[in-house]
Amino acid sequence: MLTNSITLLKDARAHAQCIPAFNIYNLETAQAAFQAARLAQKPVIAAFGEGYQENASLLVIAAIVKTLAGQHPYPVVLHLDHCKEIDTIYRAIDAGFTSVMYDGSRLPLKDNIANTLRVVQYAHERGVGVEGELGCMNPEDGSEMPDSISHSAYTDVNQARRYAKETGVDSLAGAVGNAHGLYKGTPHLHMERLEEIYRAVEIPLVLHGCSGIPAGQIRQAVSIAVAKINVNTELALAGSNQIAALLREKETMRLEKLMLGARERMAEVMKSFFDFA
Ligand SMILES: [Zn+2]
Repeated sequence: MLTNSITLLKDARAHAQCIPAFNIYNLETAQAAFQAARLAQKPVIAAFGEGYQENASLLVIAAIVKTLAGQHPYPVVLHLDHCKEIDTIYRAIDAGFTSVMYDGSRLPLKDNIANTLRVVQYAHERGVGVEGELGCMNPEDGSEMPDSISHSAYTDVNQARRYAKETGVDSLAGAVGNAHGLYKGTPHLHMERLEEIYRAVEIPLVLHGCSGIPAGQIRQAVSIAVAKINVNTELALAGSNQIAALLREKETMRLEKLMLGARERMAEVMKSFFDFA
């Protein structure tokens, strides 16, 4: 069943658990997320990024996820990931998305707060949860991965307190040593900062860039503050590596078979992230 993210994340946090959010952008990636959640028998967040509108429209993705959710016995959230355009957020909510992320992290705090507030008002009137972002992260496609992540890019605790209080967002994504894409070396999350942010905002935190973060660190972050873990890179690469492997086996393998292979492999990798849930 399709549900909103507000109570789901609050409940997860209350039990020191988390809900995995997997990026989806077509039928097969959505099916993989549902398949993994069914095997795990746990809630899942299907996250469609603003940048994927070239792959499928908001309406098409909403139709796919709503249809799959209708036959699915566990809660599913349809989430709009990293959206900088407020109009796109409104369209997603109107299309049936049950959770949205407004990403104004590159704006001055004052503008980020003003824009987030507009999104929160529109979303909450329609029973939709809102995730905000503060702190400096590299682009969602994993480009511009820094050699090391400097403390100056971390989310500022006082800004986070003000942002959460003035906007009324339901969850907050922060930067505490995490990044999008493939890490150069082992990432080290700053657990103290994570805890300080959580104490200041008193809403569930979201950890982006979970591909490649050691399991022990994810577990610790979930025990402290994180109720949603975002996974993208590891899934996308699992799918494309599987296609490459199948083509090495048989150069003339047809697309429908390749896509099934990629879907199965992605579901396996997704399933492993429910170990943190
Ligand atoms: Zn992200």
